[in-house]
Amino acid sequence: MSIIQEVIEKIGRQDADQPEFRQAVKEVMETLEPTVKKHPEFVTTKIYERIVEPDRMIIFRIPWVDDKGEVQVNRGFRVQFNNAIGPYKGGLRFHPSVNLSIIKFLGFEQTFKNSLTTLPMGGAKGGSDFDPKGKSDNEVMRFCQAFTRELFRHIGADTDVPAGDIGVGQREVGYIYGYYKKIMNEHTGVLTGKGLEYGGSLIRPEATGYGLAYFIADMLATQGKNIKGKVVAISGAGNVAQYALEKVNQLGGRVITLCDSNATIVDEEGICTEKFAYLMDLKNVHRGRIKEYANQYPAECYESKSVWDVIREKGIKVDIALPCATQNEIDAQNAQALVNNGCFCVAEGANMPSTLEAIKIFQDHNVLYAPGKAANAGGVATSGLEMTQNSLKLSWSREEVDSRLLQIMKNIHRECLDAAEAYGAKGNYLTGANIAGFLKVAKAMLAYGIV
Ligand code: NDP
Repeated sequence: MSIIQEVIEKIGRQDADQPEFRQAVKEVMETLEPTVKKHPEFVTTKIYERIVEPDRMIIFRIPWVDDKGEVQVNRGFRVQFNNAIGPYKGGLRFHPSVNLSIIKFLGFEQTFKNSLTTLPMGGAKGGSDFDPKGKSDNEVMRFCQAFTRELFRHIGADTDVPAGDIGVGQREVGYIYGYYKKIMNEHTGVLTGKGLEYGGSLIRPEATGYGLAYFIADMLATQGKNIKGKVVAISGAGNVAQYALEKVNQLGGRVITLCDSNATIVDEEGICTEKFAYLMDLKNVHRGRIKEYANQYPAECYESKSVWDVIREKGIKVDIALPCATQNEIDAQNAQALVNNGCFCVAEGANMPSTLEAIKIFQDHNVLYAPGKAANAGGVATSGLEMTQNSLKLSWSREEVDSRLLQIMKNIHRECLDAAEAYGAKGNYLTGANIAGFLKVAKAMLAYGIV
């Protein structure tokens, strides 16, 4: 049996109760097969076995008091996966589904993604099963403070730099950073995604969505195509979805779908600039639900259905699909429906939104498919730029950060294609992203000896 299959089987036994982590390991490891022959030194030093094992996993209790004066208890996580190429870096997710399997898969993916950005950042992820939905600002603040009361001892500007993710936006980052600053008595770049007034970077809120659109533009260009006039399906209605929508609009595409965990809306005319302003107000100021969009504009609303279910059931034609909500949102059935409905490009704004079976369908049908670790890397790349600005004690202009983001996405796109070609999988973005991300981390681990 190959070393790759041995590692997959070991994780299968050892982490049998962690389906998302096992899925992420299988997805990455299987594409690394061509590296085994070229790098026997990785085999003898057990790099493949070591890279799937986190450096450390921290799990802690978060007691806090709600508005009724009742004590609530949540569980907190920080998985510091790999710091071979830089300080740990990766977001925090607050969502009731959060568990060790999800945080481990996200930290594992983050390790390769951060490597791809070409910036010196290791991989980590954290969060809690706390649900910010329906909580008052004061409750969210008290929770964030209780979370930081334990997290603070594990993070630091040169140690581990968290950021946002699902359920953690600028409000939560502000509360966490404010409390960290208070108890540590220091103002350093220990978190990214901060507000502009206290060390945040211009373009960081936009970066994941904008970067995703830049990446698709490059993918389409390889086939002499562009986004202009294309029909685009986006899932989610949060940070990534919002700015992917804005940039696709700017590049001339027509976005017709959005969703949250309760409903999907389909607006065949396109969610244009005026409607985008309404959406931003609805989701970010009023913290409303996406179904309210259908009361404002002539759109269809489908409760309790994902974007991908609706596309399949209604036979909606789309050219490009951008899953920007959560993991495993596109299964085989919905992947096949996308292919049947004419979709020729899928780029992942979310982390691992396609199941392994869905990815196979995309690849078997020559869909231009970009995995999240390449296509959504603009967010963490710009977080890296925020860290640089914090270290230099200065702020770059919007244009400066945006042009660096654009260049980083171009570099990632090129790295994916070059690595894919060098390892016998020409045009395969998944193999290219995994191998390019892996090689840098593996070579650094090799240089350190057995540590
Ligand atoms: P947000 O919390 O801002 O938005 C998430 C959106 O997805 C919300 O509209 C949410 O709906 C929806 N959603 C979440 N879970 C589900 C579900 N099970 N079914 C349907 N809709 C769902 O998060 P982000 O936009 O920041 O993150 C989205 C994805 O992008 C995640 O996979 C994240 O890991 C990834 N990502 C984010 C980056 C960033 O910079 N923010 C960087 C790279 C990747 P509801 O409000 O109902 O929960």
